[in-house]
Amino acid sequence: MAAPPSATIAWFRLDLRLADNPMLEAAIERADAAGGAVLPVYIWDPEGEGGWAPGEAQQWFFHHALAGLDRGLRAAGSRLLVYGGRTREVLQQLITKHGADAVFWNRRYEPDVIRRDAELKEWLQDDVADGGAGVEACSFNGSLLVEPWQVETGSGGPYKVYTPFWRNLSKRSDIEDLEPPLPPPDALPAPAAWPADQGLNALELLPTLSWAQRFPELWDPTEAGAQHGLNRFLDEAARTYGEDRNLPGKRGTSGLSAHLHAGTVSPRQCWAQTVAFMEDDASALGDDEREHCTTFLKELAWREFAYHILFHFPETPDAPMNPKFNEFAFDGGGEHDARLHAWQVGRTGFPIVDAGMRELWALGWMHNRVRMIVGSFLVKDLLVDWRLGSAHFWDCLCEADLASNTMGWQWVAGCGADAAPFFRVFNPTSQSTKFDRSGDYIRRWVPELAELPDALIHEPSVADPEVLEQAGV
Ligand code: FAD
Repeated sequence: MAAPPSATIAWFRLDLRLADNPMLEAAIERADAAGGAVLPVYIWDPEGEGGWAPGEAQQWFFHHALAGLDRGLRAAGSRLLVYGGRTREVLQQLITKHGADAVFWNRRYEPDVIRRDAELKEWLQDDVADGGAGVEACSFNGSLLVEPWQVETGSGGPYKVYTPFWRNLSKRSDIEDLEPPLPPPDALPAPAAWPADQGLNALELLPTLSWAQRFPELWDPTEAGAQHGLNRFLDEAARTYGEDRNLPGKRGTSGLSAHLHAGTVSPRQCWAQTVAFMEDDASALGDDEREHCTTFLKELAWREFAYHILFHFPETPDAPMNPKFNEFAFDGGGEHDARLHAWQVGRTGFPIVDAGMRELWALGWMHNRVRMIVGSFLVKDLLVDWRLGSAHFWDCLCEADLASNTMGWQWVAGCGADAAPFFRVFNPTSQSTKFDRSGDYIRRWVPELAELPDALIHEPSVADPEVLEQAGV
């Protein structure tokens, strides 16, 4: 009797792209070698994420990124099989009913997901006689420049400070001579008959309220959208990035964070294209401009550092990395705390804070400088626990990422790796005056203050009542 045809499951997770996707390339190679098929699969399994199931803004992004991935796969003669449910059960069905004999995926680094994936791998590889699935299971690195365990201090431990981490990372030979990112596959071998799936709409990832209406102003959550964003950044913003990245009123940053999180672009693609841009004679970069581009590479390395910290200090999403802060007496922030609520909805009366919180709500993103200001304000002025701020960002950011969000909040609160000292409080008025000098950002997001003169827009509380009245405030 002829052996059943082989089928390799290409299990997509936070790598929703065709290009530079090592697990996909390996799945295609295996299928080609065995004369078998590739089954591209996505499984929506919020329970498998531990306490960190994707928030609503992320779900919106995933919905559109999955639709884009399916379109890309169809153009390559394939399609995306979409399921909701427990991961192991879905994989089991595909193995027993549809003859899948291998599962390939790109690694993730969140503590609960690491645990789940380790158990899954063991079960997949175990013999059927021992209760396993008896198939091949391979994982790859598709989300980071280097694995979190590959960068070590001189004494062999993890880094807790960014600058030496950057020095080590940037001097690695595999970073200095980065392998070119993989091209997208031309074609994927398809099975003779496709297994039934549930389809994307059955996952109900789109929010039921219409609060995501404005997200498309900022995001095109597809692989093409990510490439367009990277090209725009290199053409228009990279040359001045080091300075402009601090100005919330300007489009001075890449806007790639949600793409990097969902994997519609890889950090290797961002890194390689930036280096190529720096080395291209046609770019004709001066020394300063080159420095600005290097600052962008350093930000990509902050993302790597965040994963390094999360991997080595897996308790940090819930607990301060610096244990001295375990007993910190936060003063408020219960579910019904009016201060927390005012902060969430952008009604604190501090213009730059309100602008940031409204930007977050409207676009599923907030400028990094303003994140530091609103975070400092919540934790150090309102004395609300940083974990409540982190939870709100988790639900509202399209890019909510356990590694970067945790590190960002612990930085703001002063209790994390390489964090702002606990006594450094960002003064919202002076930060606003310095980084949004003409008030453009505030005018955009807090339109009720738009008619105030530049000198008063940062602190309307000191304005004369007549001036306020004239400005309609
Ligand atoms: P760019 O300035 O263009 O930077 C390029 C890329 O580098 C980013 O897309 C991101 O992947 C990475 N990066 C830049 N700054 C940082 C940083 N400080 N830490 C880690 N990676 C960085 N970033 C997230 O991706 N997800 C989060 O959930 C998140 N939560 C945050 C919470 C707080 C309180 C703070 C202070 C920062 C947080 N950040 C988070 C980091 C940073 O604010 C965003 O990555 C950045 O604003 C995204 O915009 P951009 O893509 O235009 O960034």
